Amino acid sequence: MPRKGLIIVHTGSGKGKTTAALGTAFRALGYGWKILMVQFIKGAWHCGELDSATRFGDQLQIIPMGEGFTWNTQNPERDRRKAHEAWEFGAKEALTGKYKMVIFDEINYVIHYNYLEVERVLDFLKAKPPMLHVFLTGRNAHEKIIEIADLVTEMRAIKHPFKKGIKAQKGIEF
Ligand code: ATP
Ligand code: MG
Repeated sequence: MPRKGLIIVHTGSGKGKTTAALGTAFRALGYGWKILMVQFIKGAWHCGELDSATRFGDQLQIIPMGEGFTWNTQNPERDRRKAHEAWEFGAKEALTGKYKMVIFDEINYVIHYNYLEVERVLDFLKAKPPMLHVFLTGRNAHEKIIEIADLVTEMRAIKHPFKKGIKAQKGIEF
């Protein structure tokens, strides 16, 4: 099997999981590929990549899961529903064959906290178009996701400015 669409996992507690996926997307955009990124967690800040994406027209779509679901949740039931909606949307889009690359950002975290059943994701990965590349990012990747993946990288934090009290900065963190 000389080539195949890869299942790529970025996990671990160090910085770079989301940005490495975006970096690969940036590379692939150069070949005219169509790429979809579904963000499962909405952070506190508006991320610059949302605006960068518009510069690539319909080649790069970044879909934030919408209001509500954040790192410190108030309403787990609603977050669960939102996670499922995001998953149904992303999986359905990915199966249309429109995209050559799909990034499920922070999905590992969402699976880890039981907002989304790992079986749903595994079923999708087994049925995905053969040449579609799929990224799954986020801390605490499920062992079954690691098992099915072709490429797994663990980001390990050696230093992070946060530990020195340096706040998140524009262009670096968001
Ligand atoms: P990035 O989006 O910068 O690639 P990430 O996807 O690897 O980061 P997440 O787990 O999504 O990291 O974390 C989101 C935020 O937490 C980012 O702003 C990131 O800088 C920050 N962060 C990542 N690693 C650490 C760490 N070891 N200590 C503190 N904050 C961290
Ligand atoms: Mg991330």
